[in-house]
Amino acid sequence: MFAVGLILMTGVVAAGGEPPDWCTTLERWEAKGQGGSAVAGGCPIAGSCDIPAVRDTYAPDASTPFKTIHMHLIVFREDDGSAPAATEQDVIDQMERMNDDFAPYRIDFEYTWLYVDKSQFLHNGDDFLMKQAYAVSPATRCNVYVTSLGGGYGTFAWDSDALTAQGGIVVGGGSFGGNSSVMSHEMGHNLGLWHTHHGVSEVGTCSPCWERADGVDGDTTGDFCSDTPATPVDFDCVYPADNDQCSGAPWAPTLPESFMSYGQPCWNLFTVHQASRMHCWVEAVLTGWLSPGLEPPGNDACSGAIPITGTITDLSTFGATTSAPSLPVECDEGGGLIFENDVWFTFTPDGPADIVNLCLDPLTFDARMAVYENTCGDLTLVGCSDDSCDLAPSVVFDGQCGQTYFVRVGGSADVTGYGRMIAAAFGVCDPVCPWDLDEDGMVGINDFLDLLAAWDTDPGGPPDFDGNGNVGIEDFLELLANWGPC
Ligand SMILES: [Zn+2]
Repeated sequence: MFAVGLILMTGVVAAGGEPPDWCTTLERWEAKGQGGSAVAGGCPIAGSCDIPAVRDTYAPDASTPFKTIHMHLIVFREDDGSAPAATEQDVIDQMERMNDDFAPYRIDFEYTWLYVDKSQFLHNGDDFLMKQAYAVSPATRCNVYVTSLGGGYGTFAWDSDALTAQGGIVVGGGSFGGNSSVMSHEMGHNLGLWHTHHGVSEVGTCSPCWERADGVDGDTTGDFCSDTPATPVDFDCVYPADNDQCSGAPWAPTLPESFMSYGQPCWNLFTVHQASRMHCWVEAVLTGWLSPGLEPPGNDACSGAIPITGTITDLSTFGATTSAPSLPVECDEGGGLIFENDVWFTFTPDGPADIVNLCLDPLTFDARMAVYENTCGDLTLVGCSDDSCDLAPSVVFDGQCGQTYFVRVGGSADVTGYGRMIAAAFGVCDPVCPWDLDEDGMVGINDFLDLLAAWDTDPGGPPDFDGNGNVGIEDFLELLANWGPC
């Protein structure tokens, strides 16, 4: 009885519908509404690489130099460092597989990677904030975010975000590692490829972009590659049995072997047209990714300091250079005075604030922090810290209301990474006009009466302007001296 029950249950699961649309590159692109350039009577193009004659000049052969794309992978874990979306071995295996997938087409990849302990983004809480906080030098590398979700999505080469923090690739840990080429598929989008089924399953039926099964206009419709036959979306490597309703021709044979299909089990190639498009789009848009250097962050120097406006500020020191001044000996907590690859912020206590506490949490690198006052050209040290809150720096100092301080964060060795800075203010600012006891903007008769009411009875209270522990004649004279508008 039990055996029969199990067989039936298995049968029910196997009878489930098609796999979900695991790649959301297209719908995210369409949501941006950027579109393409209209071609008279035809399918809009996104750039010259969509012109077949241009594309074909980029066809790689055995003498074509490899294009080495630089990548930066961010693998999320829970806040406590547990449950990584991928292991170190997964990263190694994935990149090896990706290099294997692309090597025949004269494209390879170099990469850096690290863990970031942030549960919110492990579970992909907000795509925009995640990319904004953790993108590293997006003009010089393809950033990849590995989360706990399934599937993935890339950013088309012709997307205006291709080289900004909002570009890159997001991939689920279940689709990442040595057993999956989903990363190769998503990278194909970033390097300028559509799905092979784009011209059938992602455009209007018989529209100008419809890719006909008889091959007519195969280079200027659908995925702009006539060597990838027209096909409806296909998850299982079996040729569709029916016909194209627009040309009447049968779909078969199709090419589920292309990495840009949904035929994952049989993926093993890019076509000549696909490889040509990738080389063309890289040279048209993505040459920055071929450079090994990181661009410095915008707040690399004091003059580019970013204002801290909220309680939590995400920071990245990747690509940062080392600023002056060096630290004085009193900043040595036993680990030396190295302060490299720093970035700058400003902090202006604008609310009640006597003390400002700046603490980095969490950190992916060994950081230190210094706080200065005055100007970038004349910095005066207010406080410094190496390892104050656990292994992170924290600077506590007496902040003056409305005064701007410069906050400098860098490595206490030649290291870079991400951090989250927490700025907290405590205490109460002195009022700008302490004699205006009723806070009506004027020092007048009502304030005088308030002072009289507190005479000799409110030591240290608001009317004790001179702070001598007594409300008396000196306080009265001070109020008179400031009579009038504040
Ligand atoms: Zn896709």
